[in-house]
Amino acid sequence: MSDRIGEKLALSIVSPCYNEEGCIDELYRRLQATAAALVGDSFEIILVNDGSKDKTLEKLRHLTLTKENVVVINLSRNFGHENALTAGLLRAEGQRVFIVDADLQDPPELLKDMMLMMDAGADVVYGRRRSRLGETKLKMISARFFYRMLERLIEIKIPLDTGDFRLMNRKTVDVFKTFPEEFRFVRGLLSWIGGNQVALFYDRSPRYAGESAYPLTKLVRFGLDAVTGFSILPLRIASYLGFLMGLMSAAMLIYAFYGWIKGEAVAGWTSLSCFVLTIGSVQLLVLGIFGEYLGRLYIESKRRPLFVISDILISKVTEPVT
Ligand code: UDP
Ligand code: MG
Repeated sequence: MSDRIGEKLALSIVSPCYNEEGCIDELYRRLQATAAALVGDSFEIILVNDGSKDKTLEKLRHLTLTKENVVVINLSRNFGHENALTAGLLRAEGQRVFIVDADLQDPPELLKDMMLMMDAGADVVYGRRRSRLGETKLKMISARFFYRMLERLIEIKIPLDTGDFRLMNRKTVDVFKTFPEEFRFVRGLLSWIGGNQVALFYDRSPRYAGESAYPLTKLVRFGLDAVTGFSILPLRIASYLGFLMGLMSAAMLIYAFYGWIKGEAVAGWTSLSCFVLTIGSVQLLVLGIFGEYLGRLYIESKRRPLFVISDILISKVTEPVT
């Protein structure tokens, strides 16, 4: 822990928590048992409270009062999963950093295998889901579609069916700390860093308690962040669409002109309305794509902080440190 000055901490575990009151105690129990068996006392468990509305903060506070090796970062409100995770990663001091969701969908015990793979030379060991238990069909299908679509759209290779669940070495975390962007698709950024990244296949469990904070609408936004953060292909598609519409208009012009010369200019209400509607909607679509990028550029240009920390609670420290 931080009171051991001069000694390097072997492992940091980072877990973002949003309304996870039912999971916290079990999460701590399993993380502590796993970490202690691997690195003795040389670890910290960083739990980030992302503006939870239930008793998560109280549970976390209780942990810092009764258990060791716990650091609680209490954010001032809900900043979202990716920002909460970033808050934890920025604070992590360990030589290796392990990210795990608070809901225990990803078994913390796999850390042991990840450590072995890292001993063998990996910079990053990421968990790749072989199966997902206890998820709704809609979520399974949308997740599957999401990862496949992402693969086509973005230029860097983000491994399929992979979340944030992973172990990283210090080098990778240090690079991650230099990313300034506001819209963060953390797993994409981590893939971007490169190095020797290897997969560990596992079966994803159902949530231990509580419910997912990712309904379909949030997933769509998450997807947009992922795509716009790593690719300008949609902008290019917009120009292709424009080009295609241009060609079609040229053909239509020739046709219309020909009809006029021959004196057969008919009323043509159907074709005309089809054209107007198509051109109108394509224009709006293109504007929408532009808007997505422009809006992000606008927010990005403000350079606001990614999150605000209300207080940090550390095991055995009774007074909150700010
Ligand atoms: N989470 C968070 N802030 C949010 C939403 C989620 O910190 O605004 C945390 C949540 O507590 C969990 C992780 O992010 O540890 C993943 O969220 P969730 O389990 O709801 O997503 P899913 O596993 O269903 O994709
Ligand atoms: Mg989950």
